Amino acid sequence: MRLPTSTFNLFAIASLIGLGAIGWIHIGLVASTEDSAFRSARYDVTWTGSAGRIEILELQLRVAKYLESGSAEDADQVYLYSQIVEGRLENWNTGVFGEYLDDSPARRAMFDRAHAEFRDAKTAFARIDDPEVLARLQKKIDLIVPILDRIGTDAHTHTVTVNAAIRDQLIEEQRVQQYLSFGLIGAGALLLMVMMYQNRSLVRAHRAARESAAGFSDLAHHDGLTGLPNRLAFKGEFDAAMEATDHDSNMLAVFAIDLDGFKAVNDLLGHSAGDDLLIEVSARLRKLVDKLGHGNIVSRFGGDEFVVLLQGKAAVSRHQDIAARILAELSRPYLVQRSTVAIGATIGLSLLDRAGDSASNPLLDADLALSNAKAQGKGIVVTFDPSMRQDFERRGRLEIDLKTALGNGEIFPFYQPQVDIRTGQVVGFEALARWNHPELGWIGPNEFIPIAETSSQIVELGRCILTTACAQAREFPEKMRVSVNLSVGQMLRDDVIGMVSGVLASTGFPAHRLTLEVTESVMMSEPELAARTLNELKSLGISIALDDFGTGYSALSYLRQFDWDELKIDKSFVDDLADDPRSLSIVESVVDLATELGMKVVAEGVESSDQDEILRNSGCHIAQGYLYGRPQPIEDVHLLLLKLLAAEEPDSDEPAKASG
Ligand code: C2E
Ligand code: CA
Ligand code: CA
Repeated sequence: MRLPTSTFNLFAIASLIGLGAIGWIHIGLVASTEDSAFRSARYDVTWTGSAGRIEILELQLRVAKYLESGSAEDADQVYLYSQIVEGRLENWNTGVFGEYLDDSPARRAMFDRAHAEFRDAKTAFARIDDPEVLARLQKKIDLIVPILDRIGTDAHTHTVTVNAAIRDQLIEEQRVQQYLSFGLIGAGALLLMVMMYQNRSLVRAHRAARESAAGFSDLAHHDGLTGLPNRLAFKGEFDAAMEATDHDSNMLAVFAIDLDGFKAVNDLLGHSAGDDLLIEVSARLRKLVDKLGHGNIVSRFGGDEFVVLLQGKAAVSRHQDIAARILAELSRPYLVQRSTVAIGATIGLSLLDRAGDSASNPLLDADLALSNAKAQGKGIVVTFDPSMRQDFERRGRLEIDLKTALGNGEIFPFYQPQVDIRTGQVVGFEALARWNHPELGWIGPNEFIPIAETSSQIVELGRCILTTACAQAREFPEKMRVSVNLSVGQMLRDDVIGMVSGVLASTGFPAHRLTLEVTESVMMSEPELAARTLNELKSLGISIALDDFGTGYSALSYLRQFDWDELKIDKSFVDDLADDPRSLSIVESVVDLATELGMKVVAEGVESSDQDEILRNSGCHIAQGYLYGRPQPIEDVHLLLLKLLAAEEPDSDEPAKASG
């Protein structure tokens, strides 16, 4: 415990005032003692008084002696003593003795009378040879002697009394001085003690402040939940490790780890279960990494992201093996709040390669490898490859360039024919976006559509493609349809209906010739909103196709969730048709079900006539694929349509075919 500063200050001020007061009193006492000592000296009139007494008695004696002898010698003695007494009386009359006489008016009067008598007798001393004068002188002296004797005796008594009083006063003052000394010493000691105590408290407070500052720094460097070093701490260790790394050998390995399925645990079992899971994941990682030697770090970067740094050649040479062990360890079941849960992990791995790439930063590289791994599918380990950085940089550039591409007319649709699988006649086209980049050349939608989707530019892009497709398809023969892809990002905006009907109105393209293709992911995020929107689009007269059936979840339930006009079987199914009897039976049953539900079935990615034949036999209605034609620019479509038109002329006996 420490005195509050205000209390300490008050105490210190009070002590100082006390010390000041004691000092003041002490000074007063010293002055008073000096005064007493002086007074004791001043009032020492005993000796003067006694001397006077003796001298006057001596004079009386000499006079008596002369009276007896009448010798000249004795006469001289009388004269001498008369002189002495005269001097003594002068002496008594002034100075300290005079003051003593003045102290008592009666005493003063007594002395003055004796003094006057003596002065009166003074001339008589010169004539003592005259017996008459001598007799008178003797009488006078006999009168004066008792007075002066009395004054002298009183002086002695007085001195004794005064000195006793002064001594008592001095003793009293000395006692007070003693108390004051004790007081002074006590107050000083107390002040010293309080200061020492306060000082010790300050030292303790200082230490506590230092410790709490260290605590804050600790907090700033550690993840509160798992106690692992956080991103900041990792960065420090990582920079130091980079610095220490031998310049031409691989000694660092970074594992960027992302948990798969963590969000589901958090959503289903609650955040505290999620926290417990993260703590257990950290413990497993730490245990595994601790076994790999010193200087290795496990860090939590936030959320379900962890990063492991391994140092030393041995660890690095076995990195693939270690990554696989991390995956296996993290995929073991967990017991979280009495539930058993299973999650997985995806890992991006990078090694420091000074010799190969001077700009290499293993931390960024591991992150890129992780993004790559996640894009490829989860639960895998992907090792960094320099091409990933080029891809990353290219993606960054496309993201920037996309902002101006639409305005510059660099993005527009190509058209891929869709053919009636029985007659081979072209029944419509799917509009597929293409980007003609001024510097990078042709860029496919698989590359830029995902970028547009993350940046919400997909809305503008979709509107642009739809507008161009409708405007250009208006020139197609009336029986031909056009299909346009619609992203989830577009679908879930509340103005999609207004946008589509606006485009139809502005281009004059009839709604009944337009098909919008959406994937099942539309039904997954917000099924009710999606169904409502799709129904509204249908009510405009537009057909709706379920795209990419066979990828993703491909639940048959999606077929019943909405009244689809068209079902597009994904290329991946079509690819396997010729070799895999299971693919064939799946396609056959899907076609049966879709037909039963009144849908047209479109097969995508038909490349061979074998596939074409199988699909035709399984009851599929429409085929789309390189076998019939690649996506092509509008000019080529016009040429194709001209050919088809020519083939339809009455003098021709060939039916309209896409590949002319
Ligand atoms: P999708 O809608 O499934 O389009 C079919 C894709 O398969 C097209 O790729 C097409 O070129 C390709 N393809 C067609 N037949 C064959 C074949 O016989 N063999 C092979 N190997 N490929 C074939 P594309 O044009 O690169 O488009 C890729 C995806 O980009 C599309 O897949 C679609 O999901 C998306 N996309 C294209 N244009 C747009 C658009 O305007 N808006 C939106 N939201 N997405 C678009
Ligand atoms: Ca499509
Ligand atoms: Ca498709």
